[in-house]
Amino acid sequence: MLLIPEPLLFELSSPGRTAFSLPTLDVPASPLPQELVREAVNLPEISELDLVRHYVHLSQKNFSIDTHFYPLGSCTMKYNPKVNETAAVMEGFNRSHPLQPEDMAQGNLALMYHLQEFLKEIAGFAGISLQPAAGAHGEFAGVLMMRAYHLARGDTRRTKILIPNSAHGTNPASVTMSGLEAVEIPSDERGNVDLATLQSQCDDTVVGLMLTNPNTLGLFEEHIEAVVKAVHDCGGLMYGDGANLNALLGIARPGDLGFDVMHFNLHKTFTTPHGGGGPGSGPVGVSERLRPFLPGPIVAKKANQESENTPYSLLLTPYFLTMPEQSIGRVKAFHGNFGMLVRAYTYIAMLGEEGLRQVSLNAVLNANYLKARLGKTFPVPYDRLCMHEFVARGDIVPGVHTMDIAKRLIDYGIHPPTVYFPLIVHEAMMIEPTETESKQTLDNFVEVLQRIVHQAQDEPDFLRTAPHSTPVNRLDEVAAARKPILCYKG
Ligand SMILES: *Cc1c(COP(=O)(O)O)cnc(C)c1O
Repeated sequence: MLLIPEPLLFELSSPGRTAFSLPTLDVPASPLPQELVREAVNLPEISELDLVRHYVHLSQKNFSIDTHFYPLGSCTMKYNPKVNETAAVMEGFNRSHPLQPEDMAQGNLALMYHLQEFLKEIAGFAGISLQPAAGAHGEFAGVLMMRAYHLARGDTRRTKILIPNSAHGTNPASVTMSGLEAVEIPSDERGNVDLATLQSQCDDTVVGLMLTNPNTLGLFEEHIEAVVKAVHDCGGLMYGDGANLNALLGIARPGDLGFDVMHFNLHKTFTTPHGGGGPGSGPVGVSERLRPFLPGPIVAKKANQESENTPYSLLLTPYFLTMPEQSIGRVKAFHGNFGMLVRAYTYIAMLGEEGLRQVSLNAVLNANYLKARLGKTFPVPYDRLCMHEFVARGDIVPGVHTMDIAKRLIDYGIHPPTVYFPLIVHEAMMIEPTETESKQTLDNFVEVLQRIVHQAQDEPDFLRTAPHSTPVNRLDEVAAARKPILCYKG
């Protein structure tokens, strides 16, 4: 995929070279204070051109949505419209400081306020906090709110949170981090929550249920009303993992389905960039009874202040920060990842209600198109109408695993799907095309996978050693994650 050869030279530093040129000194020189001077910092000495080439070469090794198709299931790797960036670099947004007084930051507060309103409307909630910095962070905030709600009512016996076995690993992790106990609920043969087990677990020790809907199989919960009823009837709350909201925009609202709290992943559904560990944003939405517990501060607007003797200056500053009465507190410094809020606001405002509905309709259409074409080659264990993604099995040629197919895809310039997740599907490939890909791109993906299957039959070793075109080939992924070497000096 990468056609540019690697430079042979690894060590570029050469004593005395610099990447800067300063004008001749025209003021008297004065020494730096001694405490600011460090000896032997051992930085590379390098020319400006070599420095530029070094970083440009590194950037060209990046795999990104701007360069390649990225059907990474559950991650919603949709195109990030460039108009978002235009908005985010506007000076009023990008040069403001979080400690600026409220009356000097009304534009920023207005944007946050209206984003809160958009998210409320989109998902059917009574209140929103924009604080959390990721989906998992939103989960943690949500679980703390659920716990706080029960404790505030003197209901101290509740310690368990029920989680279907198709859930993302962050769900049980958030529960454990909150000091509660995660209890696994099996799935039935159609990929739904197993209703009988759920009902048998619902009692007065249950804080609530964490449900991803559509779930990580890409399937809409067919018994959603019965599930919500079972949980609410025992006094529990419904947590919605909103990572898969891209299937529902303008079609169904989690708040209307009975969810009490949900996180949004702005970096998935609402096109703020992600991958590479960049800043995320995971606002939480809540129903009326959880509103007092939201993490804060949130942005509010002064109501009905226009009377004859309202000073003009007050009319200009309607937005203010406030802490909900029984708030679980802050979960993030200042006001969340503000730059991401600007991008998500821009995306929502550009599309509007009809545009958002079209997003989800097309996301579902694209996923079902791929499922119909790929399902002929790769078995789909829970085979019913899918939402924005689906899960197939990759182990169709004896001795060749899903991992080998995933790695070979890289040689064709395609990011592998999510693999070996969800855990309930053996050798899983979880494929999410998103709405932003054309039919041509999807057809190319199908043809590449078909070609790879032929290679698996003819020369399986070539697959088992893939990828072959990348700067480094098959990695030991465990060692790469557990013992990363991030600095060449070790
Ligand atoms: C991505 C994802 C999460 C976690 O969200 P982050 O923003 O990555 O922290 C949780 N649940 C599901 C189903 C997801 O796909």
